[in-house]
Amino acid sequence: MQLQVGRDGEIFASTNWVESGDPKIIWIMLGPGSVRERSINHLAETIFHESLHLLLVEERIRNGVTGFFKELPETQQKEEELRIYLLQLDLLAKMRTQKEEIEEIRRWMEPYKNPN
Ligand SMILES: [Zn+2]
Repeated sequence: MQLQVGRDGEIFASTNWVESGDPKIIWIMLGPGSVRERSINHLAETIFHESLHLLLVEERIRNGVTGFFKELPETQQKEEELRIYLLQLDLLAKMRTQKEEIEEIRRWMEPYKNPN
């Protein structure tokens, strides 16, 4: 995992490969919003979210298809995000996370509901 800190504002968490070559090294990038500005539950579910992206990347690579999320067709990216956000909301509920943080995740999930 790496912490991304930019000069100008928020950098969101992502799963990124920042090094080329074989084997590829894929990093979970965490932004200050995940590490510092919200609760420990939020940090845990962000790591959970990005870890699921990693598992899906690995599965695709093993199946010989395009691995990296950003190389997928937009529809498939949205499906993956939605699938992960739903699991994330489930986890947040089990951890009894503050209602406001759950609502924030629901808002972030909204654009992925429509596949087109
Ligand atoms: Zn995601």
